[in-house]
Amino acid sequence: MKKYLKSIIAIAAISVMTLSLAACGSNKTTEENNNTTTTEGENTTGGEKETLVVATNAEFPPYEYYEGQDIVGIDVEIMKAIGEKLGMEVTIEDMAFDSIIPAIQSGKADIGAAGMTVTEDRLANVDFTDTYCHASQAIIVNAANEEIKTAADLEGKTIGVQLGTTGDMYAGDVTENVERYNKGFEAAMAVAQGKIDAVVIDDQVAKSLAEGNADLKVLEEPFTEEDYAIAVSKDNTELTEKINAALVELKEDGTIQSIIDKYITE
Ligand code: GLN
Repeated sequence: MKKYLKSIIAIAAISVMTLSLAACGSNKTTEENNNTTTTEGENTTGGEKETLVVATNAEFPPYEYYEGQDIVGIDVEIMKAIGEKLGMEVTIEDMAFDSIIPAIQSGKADIGAAGMTVTEDRLANVDFTDTYCHASQAIIVNAANEEIKTAADLEGKTIGVQLGTTGDMYAGDVTENVERYNKGFEAAMAVAQGKIDAVVIDDQVAKSLAEGNADLKVLEEPFTEEDYAIAVSKDNTELTEKINAALVELKEDGTIQSIIDKYITE
């Protein structure tokens, strides 16, 4: 009986694991849609592999960043794994974050993978796949700052954000003084130099920005919670479905979690 119970618990644990959204190191899990669609994922264009052009902004460690000449990171590896499932050659195109959705709309890129949060506004312009990562917007302040301890303390403060990101959207809810930077790194430098009070940026990126800089600290309390997904053209629902099927497999076989664990250790 005891043994029987154990295996039930083990099975239950496995299903929870496969159905929960990869937490990306934030210690939180979210139930996701249980997508049961399956696809062969192979494309048969006679030998030549079709190309999957992925738009990203390689200023976003650990999701996408440069290592020498190469763009590496969680999203890049997940896209390669999806490309493999779909039998497609993955090409990564680096661009400004706010150019990614226009690139998908104009057909310059097939998909966007850039730690991109699913938002209502974006859903008006692109479709999103199922989510693959749970994240949050974190608050970075100067290490010497004793005044800002929680999100509530940001009211009216000068907040730096990366242009066009969810941090940009939400900071405007608590202050009129939003400073927009092209790169999260530039915003972090401004806090370190005391030019602005805080930065609102994705949690893992905040950690990696603060890691190498003793003048910065990341507050424990997140500003918001959100989920990342891959953006696809509204005209290409077939691709969205194929990617969703690949994501189900990559979640179930542990590939996504092992990619995340490679970059995020907690
Ligand atoms: N998650 C944030 C957003 O979607 C930031 C993404 C990014 O800067 N790459 O707006």
